[in-house]
Amino acid sequence: MKYRKMPKSNDRLSALGFGCMRFPTTPEGKIDEDQSFAMLHAAYQGGVNYFDTAWGYHGEDSEPFVGRFLQQINRKQVYVATKLPCWLIKTREDMDEYLNKQLERLQTDYIDYYLLHALSKRTWKTVKDLGVLDFLKKAKADGKIRHIGFSFHDDYATFSRILRAFDWDFTQIMLNYLDTHYQAGIKGLKLAASRKVGVVSMEPLRGGKLVHSLPPEVETVWQKAGNHQSPLERAVAWVWNIKECSVLLSGMSTIQQVQQNIKLANKSKPETLSAKDLRTYSRARKAYLARVPYLCSECRYCMPCPLGVNIPAVLGLYAEARMFGDAPLNKKEYTMFISEEARAAQCSHCGACLPKCPQHIEIPHWMSEIKDFYAD
Ligand code: SF4
Ligand code: SF4
Repeated sequence: MKYRKMPKSNDRLSALGFGCMRFPTTPEGKIDEDQSFAMLHAAYQGGVNYFDTAWGYHGEDSEPFVGRFLQQINRKQVYVATKLPCWLIKTREDMDEYLNKQLERLQTDYIDYYLLHALSKRTWKTVKDLGVLDFLKKAKADGKIRHIGFSFHDDYATFSRILRAFDWDFTQIMLNYLDTHYQAGIKGLKLAASRKVGVVSMEPLRGGKLVHSLPPEVETVWQKAGNHQSPLERAVAWVWNIKECSVLLSGMSTIQQVQQNIKLANKSKPETLSAKDLRTYSRARKAYLARVPYLCSECRYCMPCPLGVNIPAVLGLYAEARMFGDAPLNKKEYTMFISEEARAAQCSHCGACLPKCPQHIEIPHWMSEIKDFYAD
């Protein structure tokens, strides 16, 4: 295994981190403990020492399960990351309660890497106003957490504001070769590095979409460049090439994935891709983006829609349908993630959103097309 450090820590972190959110499950939807323990042990034996869980993973079963795993190994040889569920926090006392319960669930006295989970403009304001920064400082001073960080899902401006608001040890951001300009993006990565904030990358495969059913024009880019690696190899090589990135998190679901990822992590090295390689990634990214007829930056200036349409979410999911072409999965996600009242079918074509969109997206037109596509 290859190991990397974060700027403010002497911990040697495995280049591959185990994301404990996609364990195999039983027909009843519970974690399949035999298979999942085997995967965790294979990772541990293979040198993985960063295990990332969260309060809500696997319907709250992940933390207790990871806690039982910690009892089976040498706790001191691994780093445990978990997260405060910011959207559940209503008072300052809640923060202490959640952390204490998490320590209990994980059967440990300390958490190595503690994150505010999924910060966005809204959750950040809420937890900040409730005193989260004092909570974090106190928890660190008490020895309950060793490093303070946050995971993030919003735009770059929000990322920049949060990053500058505290002396963070690390951040966890979405990093893959497609989303270089999305959410925190490469700009966010560089900003974090300039402030000596460590970076953990999540979604290196964009939820698996970068390795399944490659659109023909994207595959052509790789073939023309003489790159015959597998989609998985290309995707993780891009992330590991980034020297500022300490850990690539992978939510593995099979023992084969664990073995395959360890093999790739063993070969990983920062700054090994050539300028020509990077140009090919950039062409592949453009080939994906060319499949989408608009560029929504999720700035949300168009919101709120008087009819309740969640414009950026609807446009975002439809963009994914065009990019990856996996219509059945995408249609499932549309019904799962977008409530009926917020779907394209609600659009009355009032046009109120049109002048607010800096990208000049013909939103009502796309709402009609999207409504037909999802037949909702
Ligand atoms: S045009 Fe449609 S999406 Fe835009 S504000 Fe009006 S109802 Fe909402
Ligand atoms: S204003 Fe335009 S770019 Fe911004 S979220 Fe709305 S549709 Fe997307």
